[in-house]
Amino acid sequence: MKKAIAILGMKCPRCYEDNLYTYSRPLQLRQLHVMPDHCSCCGLSFTQEPGFYTGAMYVSYVLNILFFILFFFTFYIGLHVDGLIFMLTYSVSVLLLSPFLFRYSRTLYIHLFYSYEPRAKELYIKSMALKSQV
Ligand SMILES: [Zn+2]
Repeated sequence: MKKAIAILGMKCPRCYEDNLYTYSRPLQLRQLHVMPDHCSCCGLSFTQEPGFYTGAMYVSYVLNILFFILFFFTFYIGLHVDGLIFMLTYSVSVLLLSPFLFRYSRTLYIHLFYSYEPRAKELYIKSMALKSQV
């Protein structure tokens, strides 16, 4: 349950505290993909390696298919909307939702690789304290 809340809130996958994105509003399209280099609470690198988020494309594909199925059963099957109107409404909806789908696919993707570590923040603070002593 905590993981689902962290994904919905687009939080760090290791500590669930810091935001994954620098700018919280997804409709600022120029800053849509901007992420901090690492988590300020636990130190997890959000930019793992060049091309890391390429795999989020597949997550985005699955999310789009799920959205289509939901839209299809709600409007075409449930409400018997005309085919052309259905396709136009669906196209506009996907266009409006694309910033959210983009961010959630990246969020889901990084959450696939990391799990919650309750002591991550504490260990990061200790390691930073050790670094400052050297
Ligand atoms: Zn973190």
